[in-house]
Amino acid sequence: MSDPLWSDRSTWLRGDDLESYRVTSDGLCWWCQSAAATTREHKFKRTDLDQMWGDSAYLLWGSSGDNRTIWDSESFGRLSKIRGAKSDVAKFKPSMCLTCNGKRSQPFDDSYVTFSRYVWQYMDTLWKAGNINMSEVYGNEWKSRVLELAKYFAKHSACSMVDADFKVPQSIIEFLNGNTDRLEDMHIVIFKDPQIRHYRRQMRAVGVAAGGLHIEPAVGTVSPSRKCLTAYSSAYLLDFIGVKYYWKEGAKASDSFYLHQKPHIYRREKLPLI
Ligand SMILES: [Zn+2]
Repeated sequence: MSDPLWSDRSTWLRGDDLESYRVTSDGLCWWCQSAAATTREHKFKRTDLDQMWGDSAYLLWGSSGDNRTIWDSESFGRLSKIRGAKSDVAKFKPSMCLTCNGKRSQPFDDSYVTFSRYVWQYMDTLWKAGNINMSEVYGNEWKSRVLELAKYFAKHSACSMVDADFKVPQSIIEFLNGNTDRLEDMHIVIFKDPQIRHYRRQMRAVGVAAGGLHIEPAVGTVSPSRKCLTAYSSAYLLDFIGVKYYWKEGAKASDSFYLHQKPHIYRREKLPLI
């Protein structure tokens, strides 16, 4: 997943620098490219928000630039309250049609919810484990369901790209369409983040439930001549267990978690920073 390009910060673009690489929305769903984009995908899944709610009257939302975090406590600086799981702040802007965001992607969402429940339930066990046994998560159907889980994250990454006004790579669309069972140019891995776990334990010691949902800032590379994305990376965390993806144009044979029954759980610091 490492890429020497990203170590040279002088080449980094941000904010207005990226304007000429963005595409204006044609108002169509990025997946089927035929029906109107009327529905908003959740940045943070509703079931995860409900899971965090517990007895709290609200959750807290923190955002700085591309950095999006939800906390379930109220002791942190400039945060805003989320009073319901349907809050728009927890969603991407509209980019999918009703069918694609509903019926077509329902199996992906279902497999994600099963995975998420397992992670919330066995988080402390997963912390000590070197891998996650997908047949324990999904039973005998693990092979097909883990592929659906990968499609959930591929869909999430595509919504994130469109939210930032970039075009979705065709390879992601082919993967979601089922034309291939391997998204070769996107590396997706499962990891655990010691810093977040440490922080959570510290807060718990002073009586604050600081478990949270977190999306790492998205980072990408662009082609100046073709005016398009050439790489894109981010990560989604349920508390200290996360899924990190790195799409790179032209990459081959990425060794992603869904190819294995017992995918490795990487330590965050062993993965590239971005
Ligand atoms: Zn559609």
